[in-house]
Amino acid sequence: MKTEIIKVSRDCISTEDEERLMRAGEILRMGGLVAFPTETVYGLGGDAMNREACSKIYAAKGRPSDNPLIVHIGRFEDIYQIVSKLPEAAIRVSKAFWPGPLTMILPKGEKVPYEVTGGLETVAVRFPSHPMARKLIIYAGGFVAAPSANASGRPSPTTGEHVVEDMNGRIEMIVDGGQVGIGVESTILDLTVEPPRILRPGYITQEMLEALLGKVDADVTMMQDNSGETPKAPGMKYRHYAPMGKLMIVEGNPRDVGTYINRQVFLDKQAGEKTGILGTEEQLHQYRADVIKCIGSREDEEAVARNLFAALREFDQEKVTKIYAESFSTQGLGQAIMNRLLKAAGHCVIRL
Ligand code: AMP
Ligand code: MG
Repeated sequence: MKTEIIKVSRDCISTEDEERLMRAGEILRMGGLVAFPTETVYGLGGDAMNREACSKIYAAKGRPSDNPLIVHIGRFEDIYQIVSKLPEAAIRVSKAFWPGPLTMILPKGEKVPYEVTGGLETVAVRFPSHPMARKLIIYAGGFVAAPSANASGRPSPTTGEHVVEDMNGRIEMIVDGGQVGIGVESTILDLTVEPPRILRPGYITQEMLEALLGKVDADVTMMQDNSGETPKAPGMKYRHYAPMGKLMIVEGNPRDVGTYINRQVFLDKQAGEKTGILGTEEQLHQYRADVIKCIGSREDEEAVARNLFAALREFDQEKVTKIYAESFSTQGLGQAIMNRLLKAAGHCVIRL
């Protein structure tokens, strides 16, 4: 299949942008697949009400079919067509954080095919804030199932080029809108349980949700190796975000981390490995390795979140075989950063 790649600006203001986006919407209506940017990461969209389109999403990603998709809406009121009940807490959450980087798990409405929910009686719903994404969803008919637009297991795409790497030749169209703003996927909040439970941390933090709702649980599997447990969100059991090289997180005070990593890198090189380090501005000066990537300052967690997936992909491009990453606090946005990093590392953490 030939994949058409088009550029559309975030705010989609010109007539040309508008026309291109309408064409993308038409492809979705006809059951085709279109990747597009949102405020979190790029999504791989298909018409959520079309079973075949949903099956095509799984095939294009190589995604296991029990790992459900998030349904994206472009207008709040459309939610009533896809859920069977909207609890009072969900309305409060939507007033506080929608449109935005938050997904709610709610009881599924009859119209939603089981191909979207991976056979579950619940549906994941998100109303994104990205203006072009919202327009596209409306042009597509109102309901777009869109997992992250990476090949299953790879780091989520945060630029149009990342999507091209993974999806060229597999889908009808890629809408390139440049680099995304947030860089990690939406927070997933399950509102079918009491108290509400975070299944995946994201930009909307546990602290922010607790300020609104009172007690909010965080799923234990978020920060732990869950290979032996039955996960609440099916996708949580799969290896995710992983670069091709072996990634290890090193936790400890900055000096010890520097000493440890440099010694390991020395040994790895003797063993013929190509070595990489993922570090922060504050600690970068101390390292020696083949490839050293800075993901930003510890003072600026938003930059770290935004740069994380791109850095993991860059190690692949440079064919790095062993990667050492610094560790981050798990407060606030750090919870999302560490969740992605732990999954990418297959929970391999060295505590000094
Ligand atoms: P992605 O689309 O790649 O961001 O992944 C979406 C994730 O949302 C899945 O991996 C699941 O963990 C989660 N999810 C989607 N629908 C449900 C649901 N009905 N119940 C629980 N988790 C869900
Ligand atoms: Mg994903």
